[in-house]
Amino acid sequence: MIKTDILIIGAGPTGLFTVFEAGLLKLKCHLIDALPQPGGQCSELYLKKPIYDIPGFPEILAGDLTANLLEQGKQFQPGFTLGERAETIEKQEDGSFIVTTNKGTKHHAPIIAIAGGLGSFEPRKPKLEGIEKYEDKGVAYFIKDPEVYRDKKVVIAGGGDSALDWSIFLADVASEVTLVHRRNEFRGALDSVEKVQELKVLNKINLITPAEITALHGDNHLEGVSVTKDGNTEFIEADEFIPLFGLSPKLGPIGDWGLEIEKNAIKVDTLDYQTNIPGIYAIGDVNTYEGKLKLILCGFHEATLMCQSAYKRLNPGKKFVLKYTTVSGINGFDGSRKESPKAVVKAIV
Ligand SMILES: Cc1cc2nc3c(=O)[nH]c(=O)nc-3n(C[C@H](O)[C@H](O)[C@H](O)COP(=O)(O)OP(=O)(O)OC[C@H]3O[C@@H](n4cnc5c(N)ncnc54)[C@H](O)[C@@H]3O)c2cc1C
Repeated sequence: MIKTDILIIGAGPTGLFTVFEAGLLKLKCHLIDALPQPGGQCSELYLKKPIYDIPGFPEILAGDLTANLLEQGKQFQPGFTLGERAETIEKQEDGSFIVTTNKGTKHHAPIIAIAGGLGSFEPRKPKLEGIEKYEDKGVAYFIKDPEVYRDKKVVIAGGGDSALDWSIFLADVASEVTLVHRRNEFRGALDSVEKVQELKVLNKINLITPAEITALHGDNHLEGVSVTKDGNTEFIEADEFIPLFGLSPKLGPIGDWGLEIEKNAIKVDTLDYQTNIPGIYAIGDVNTYEGKLKLILCGFHEATLMCQSAYKRLNPGKKFVLKYTTVSGINGFDGSRKESPKAVVKAIV
């Protein structure tokens, strides 16, 4: 049985920052994530893309943000159960919880912080005969490492931001990029649409609209796709096919934990992001309240307030005084103490 003060379900940016904020309050954290690596959407969906709206970072790659968050939390020695999905929760008589994963690992904590984001990642797959046969053999629904596509012939399908952004990015990596969309209009940022049009003129992206991929070809690995436009079908050579039709958000087993759910998200109050079950909080993309914004910085804010509330729950009656890290430093569990140097004020005579 793994014991901790705060059990965090989801090691995305919100869960990772919770470790730091809890650590400042001397609360120990353990994280569970269904994915084999921490970082949530940042690692799984856009590892190599720059983010521009993290305070204090004019530009930071999603992968670097994850690495920084891990570094920042490291001093508080969080535990990790990776590659396992939190499956069931049992409330104990003393009000604490036992969470068990799909692999049977048990975790015991008085506080649960659900930072499950979109839940388990379920890509919307196109209805193409035999597509499963090509998965990881030329068909992928996420781009984990763009280098996989270097000097390859790549076909991307979709009309949203992901399809546009990856077509732009891979235009400099792949030997050939074809973007296929069933409409002439795209549902993405205007500058991305304009960039794709610009790259089309430069012959760096082969744009086919309105069209659809109607068949996949190849023996042991994908060798090509059929594209149908205006009733005519043509064969296009392809080493890789990446359908980017979005993710269908699935809360997964957490949806059966007796929490109040609204539109696939967990309802919380905005005082401390607690759910309808006392002691269970929901922070980051996984929660919903009036005015909710699914942004990383909002997850950070929610994590901070949630930790304060958890501290008060665990230490009833204890007076809490907010301290700045610049004043009190960071006092790690390992006994190491990092303090900002004290100013020496001399009397003026
Ligand atoms: C392409 C793209 C670009 C984006 N760009 C920006 C941007 O520029 N700026 C910005 O602020 N935001 C951006 N976002 C949104 C941002 O990524 C999310 O707001 C952020 O990732 C939410 O963090 P989170 O930790 O709450 O959830 P997530 O990052 O979704 O992490 C949740 C984690 O919980 C895990 N999990 C879920 N259920 C379980 C379970 N039952 N058991 C175990 N683990 C579980 C999942 O595996 C996942 O790793 C972007 C998103 C995408 C897809």
